Amino acid sequence: MHEFRYINNKLYCENVSVESLAKQHGTPLYVYSQSTIANHFLTLDKVLEPLPHMVCYAVKANSNAGIIRILANLGSGFDIVSEGELRRVIAAGGDSRTCVFAGVGKSESEIDFALQSGIYAFNVESEPELVRINKLAAARKVQAPIAFRVNPNVDASTHAKITTGTYANKFGIPFEDIEGLYARAKKLKNIKLRGLQMHIGSQLTEVKPFQQAVAKVAPLAKKLAALYGLEFFSIGGGMGIVYQQALESGAASWWETPAAAKVLTPASYASTLLPILKPLGLRLLIEPGRFIVGNAGILVTRVEYVKQVGEKNFAIVDAAMNDLIRPALYDAYHQIVPTTRKSGPEIATDVVGPVCESGDCFCKSRPLTKVQEGDCLAIMSAGAYGFCMASNYNSRPFPAELLVNDKLTSLTRFRQYLPRLWESEKMPRWLKFVRLPDAFS
Ligand SMILES: *Cc1c(COP(=O)(O)O)cnc(C)c1O
Repeated sequence: MHEFRYINNKLYCENVSVESLAKQHGTPLYVYSQSTIANHFLTLDKVLEPLPHMVCYAVKANSNAGIIRILANLGSGFDIVSEGELRRVIAAGGDSRTCVFAGVGKSESEIDFALQSGIYAFNVESEPELVRINKLAAARKVQAPIAFRVNPNVDASTHAKITTGTYANKFGIPFEDIEGLYARAKKLKNIKLRGLQMHIGSQLTEVKPFQQAVAKVAPLAKKLAALYGLEFFSIGGGMGIVYQQALESGAASWWETPAAAKVLTPASYASTLLPILKPLGLRLLIEPGRFIVGNAGILVTRVEYVKQVGEKNFAIVDAAMNDLIRPALYDAYHQIVPTTRKSGPEIATDVVGPVCESGDCFCKSRPLTKVQEGDCLAIMSAGAYGFCMASNYNSRPFPAELLVNDKLTSLTRFRQYLPRLWESEKMPRWLKFVRLPDAFS
């Protein structure tokens, strides 16, 4: 069952009313459905069954400890991009031996910590990085397992800020340079060549760019595997989700909603790619982030004011771009629905936050049933790249996060206590407190 749905006009997450959560825990509030996360992971894991494989959840999409624990318990590996993420995975109960370390700018201390932790592979993005890893591994007298990230130069046709697989991006190593680099790496004593990796972008809604990239790189993977005894081929993450009408009563999963008819589904992904991958005889890795958590979370917000300016209707809510930046950063669409469905005409509404930026806007001229002060709204599909991109801009505290499991609920993060915002700030000694002149007292 789709785990966000209306029952008697009240929005539910699994078997808990979202409005009751907002009342109890305040807003803005992220709410995640455990069974939705599990369903997404298990569905992907299942379609890949014909091949030896490991699904490595991309932690950067949502790094909440509860979510990492759910996935670790299901047998997920993890795609990490920093020492902080690796430490989070370990702290939440994940296994470092299932972690792959991505990123173009790994620092010495990050590499050293990953070596100490014994990760599965470093996904190396440049020759200087290879040299650095070899040096640090030598100091530890170990062999560092690596894969090179190949940039296949395939256009993923997604938003410019999340395209990574063309030569216009900073990511990966050009396709033409890969073989030379493996040959050089082979000579380094403290490097163990373990795989080949790629990741072409995020929020891909068609299978075609994946197909093009995999078809282009598979022969290379085969050749390198034969030469260097590689163990795995990672085709990255990036599977898109449906943001339109993500809430459709009756659908079992978002990929079964009418709006998903044209997008890639776990089944179409597997049936297109597995036939190309199977002959390689390599272990397949994928690194999905958004696919697993995107539609498993919502951001609940309360209407502070309703304001009319000429023809325009604004609903000013208590969540803002600092809580969920996707609309401001990527022009992203999020479905917005009331937690209590009312009848009445729809009016074109801009749902905006209180931050002092015109970009602080969740939707423009969206037909919404008339809202009132105090109403609660749910911003759907906010589970990926939501909380993890939150900031304290405007000195707003981080929102709370809550996990639902059937009727069980638990805060997986408390709302940030305001004084935490300035606790690491220090007043320079010479800035003495100056009393207000008498005239102001
Ligand atoms: C961001 C990222 C992912 C996950 O991307 P999604 O679009 O969330 O699936 C996977 N692999 C790498 C290397 C990434 O940078």
